[in-house]
Amino acid sequence: FIAFQDVTKKFGAVTVVDHLGLEISKGEFLSLLGPSGSGKTTILMMLAGFERPTSGSILLADRPITHLPPHRRQMGVVFQNYALFPHMTVAENVAFPLEMQRVPRAEITRRVDRALDMVRLSALKDRKPSQLSGGQQQRVALTRALVFEPDVILMDEPLGALDKQLREHMQLEIRDLHRRLGLTIVFVTHDQSEALTMSDRIAVFNAGKVEQIDTPQAVYDRPRTRFVAEFIGETN
Ligand code: ATP
Repeated sequence: FIAFQDVTKKFGAVTVVDHLGLEISKGEFLSLLGPSGSGKTTILMMLAGFERPTSGSILLADRPITHLPPHRRQMGVVFQNYALFPHMTVAENVAFPLEMQRVPRAEITRRVDRALDMVRLSALKDRKPSQLSGGQQQRVALTRALVFEPDVILMDEPLGALDKQLREHMQLEIRDLHRRLGLTIVFVTHDQSEALTMSDRIAVFNAGKVEQIDTPQAVYDRPRTRFVAEFIGETN
């Protein structure tokens, strides 16, 4: 469904992603796991269209998307720093990206209501962000991605700022949403246990290369390299 074909990304002389080949199935929950600086965010940025590969191509449903701008890729993006607009209500925050795209008013209302319903935020739609908990704010950020009704959601450490209990709760919610909506999710994390509990498959990165891509069970039980064994074995 998504394919990276021999993708390399350099910033100046530094190779950040090194001849990456990667295939992601429709409906799959894939985590990109690896230490800071291993290239995970750069891969997500290339998929979202905010960065271009130096060489190689990226396909979505068998079509090359390497040269499409972000808004033509039908992907929802959720980052760790999900800055909501403080002066806008929850519903206004979610509607904002659609307004920017000049979607008709009635269509915006329909889509915003539907997206808020999916993450069970409808009751809070008239609140301001300051009147929400961290987890609720994160759900608003997620809703802003869902409102585009994308097939693919890209998440970059979306739970990194939350405390442990909230993070575990949100992990379950995202899993549930993935199952209910049949979304394809690419999830960047440096947290081994988060990747192990949430993913269908995990791609373990080291210095711009995939060390292993496998089910959580296989990565845990049969690490293919010393790097994978040591990284998975580390506790946070
Ligand atoms: P983290 O978990 O810390 O975000 P990461 O695995 O996501 O790490 P990237 O953010 O993809 O790693 O960064 C990989 C490398 O590329 C880093 O060394 C980073 O400094 C470098 N890099 C990223 N973006 C740029 C840029 N726009 N210009 C120059 N170097 C960059």
